Amino acid sequence: MLVSVMDQKIRNFCIIAHIDHGKSTLADRFLELTNTISKREMKEQLLDQMDIERERGITIKLQPARMKWHDYELNLIDTPGHVDFSYEVSRSLAAVEGAILLVDASQGVQAQTVANLYLALEQGLEIIPVLNKIDLPNADVPRTTDEICKLTGCKPEDVLKVSGKTGQGVDLLLQAIVDRVSAPKTNTNPLRALVFDSNYDEYRGIVAQIRVMDGEIKQGDKIKLTSTKKETEVLEVGYYTPKMKKSASLKSGEIGYVVTGLKSIEDCRVGDTVTLFDTNVEMLKGYKEVKPMVFAGLFCKEGNEYPRLREGIEKLKLNDAALMYEPENSQALGFGFRCGFLGLLHLEVIQERLKREFGLDLVVTVPSVAYKITKTDGTVITIHSPQELPSPDKINKVEEPIMNVDIFSPKEYLGGIMQLVAQKRGIYLNTEYLDDKIVVLHYHIPLTALLVDFYDKLKSISAGYASLNYEFLNYQTTEVVKLDILVAEEIVESLASIVYKDEAFTIGKKIVNSLKETLPRQQFVLKIQASVGSKVIAADRLSALRKDVTAKLYGGDYTRKRKLLEKQKKGKKKMLAHGTGKVDIPTEAFLAVLKK
Ligand code: GDP
Ligand code: MG
Repeated sequence: MLVSVMDQKIRNFCIIAHIDHGKSTLADRFLELTNTISKREMKEQLLDQMDIERERGITIKLQPARMKWHDYELNLIDTPGHVDFSYEVSRSLAAVEGAILLVDASQGVQAQTVANLYLALEQGLEIIPVLNKIDLPNADVPRTTDEICKLTGCKPEDVLKVSGKTGQGVDLLLQAIVDRVSAPKTNTNPLRALVFDSNYDEYRGIVAQIRVMDGEIKQGDKIKLTSTKKETEVLEVGYYTPKMKKSASLKSGEIGYVVTGLKSIEDCRVGDTVTLFDTNVEMLKGYKEVKPMVFAGLFCKEGNEYPRLREGIEKLKLNDAALMYEPENSQALGFGFRCGFLGLLHLEVIQERLKREFGLDLVVTVPSVAYKITKTDGTVITIHSPQELPSPDKINKVEEPIMNVDIFSPKEYLGGIMQLVAQKRGIYLNTEYLDDKIVVLHYHIPLTALLVDFYDKLKSISAGYASLNYEFLNYQTTEVVKLDILVAEEIVESLASIVYKDEAFTIGKKIVNSLKETLPRQQFVLKIQASVGSKVIAADRLSALRKDVTAKLYGGDYTRKRKLLEKQKKGKKKMLAHGTGKVDIPTEAFLAVLKK
């Protein structure tokens, strides 16, 4: 085993923080200060990235970057900041030795600060606590320092103070990375490299971002992905400056990219291990295939846009192993796709990208979770839509996903939050005090409860201060039923939903009312019903448009008038009896139901 002097001068690290605490800005300062990117290029880069991820502070995937600081080589990996992507965060963390824990001095420690810190500690990383935004007039340095010390167990003098905006303290931080983060271990064992990200390049296929753990990888090597068993030949290796820069090889301890030539992102998933195709080494720890948790239908507002929707989803899928989709046809909404997402943010990002990059104005149906059904014959199935729910007599048990939820909030909002969580079927576990002002509430909450308006309500209850983190806990038994909606005595498939048994009545009533307000009147009386199985639990009628057939008649010939009206009534009866009274559900009526 050879260890060269140069190897001792590599430092691999990442930045972890709550959203908006200044990761991207600090990364920009690093790139500038190390002359990796000139000031002029920096401006261009900022302009280029004015899209959704930037606006929402969830950061475009900032490419990893190799920087020179004195004679050290620093490798920065960015981590996606949101819980939906926490598996990816954990793989990024597995690729480095140290983490900057960045906390906004005007906001203090928040939910994702803690969640990400725990992920980093699980990986055994050296943590460098850093206070950011000290230039802000409302920065509370003593208090935030105290919070960080309590959280990490460090001493106040270990906490660095910087401003990513003005650059103050950033050089000291770079030096702290060199001093405190250990050099990666190097060796000449058979190749093992961790894929911590991968993306699709139109011209070169899948490019994997890797951390080499053992051995070396170079162009022409025949490689294999351990979990998917895909074999391929390395077309190129290199590192990011942050542009891709070709190099002769990547050795253990180094971070860079491999152009694999593979065509599908599913063949080269985050967390997989790259080895030489003919060696049999143990795969690196922590691989898991992430599965979608949230499902919704995507439909076009304009029917002729379907081909574009298909193209858009197919393109996004190229770069997104977690996105699932299959065609779906809805009576009210036409052709579309049923899609699976990691979480609500993932859904929003996809919807937003389809809008911006493909000009698609979409209707998204109410998001739902996956239910696990144990049937009476003992088979277990997972369902993603109400249509797949077997009839009650075939169901032995239904289970729904439960999340482990932490809510961080100033203590004055505690009462409101507790109430909200109770409404949402949360099970209270315990409360912790982070300091004398901030409380952390721990709950188990069904994922369905988080899907609709939980986050918005939490924010409005807490004047925007509360923050939230959640992770999948397990599946637990629940009592749900399929709520059907009937219009003119026909089931409208796209309005069906899976609801808690004890909420079916209330929700059914709401939907019936909403339809009564939004459906257009017909030539006949329109029955609107909500039913569970064969039992109608809510019903209403929309009276008929009355074509005034007597208008033409003048004078007092009542007999004729009555006769005509009677004739008309009969006609209507006939129409209904023969089932010709099929009703189109206009998109507006459908949308009104979705909003309830
Ligand atoms: P990220 O979500 O962690 O990547 O955060 P960003 O880097 O996108 O920053 C979030 C917001 O905070 C942006 O509006 C930045 O301009 C601002 N910001 C970041 N660092 C500083 C800082 O040191 N001082 C001040 N005043 N604002 C900052
Ligand atoms: Mg960012």
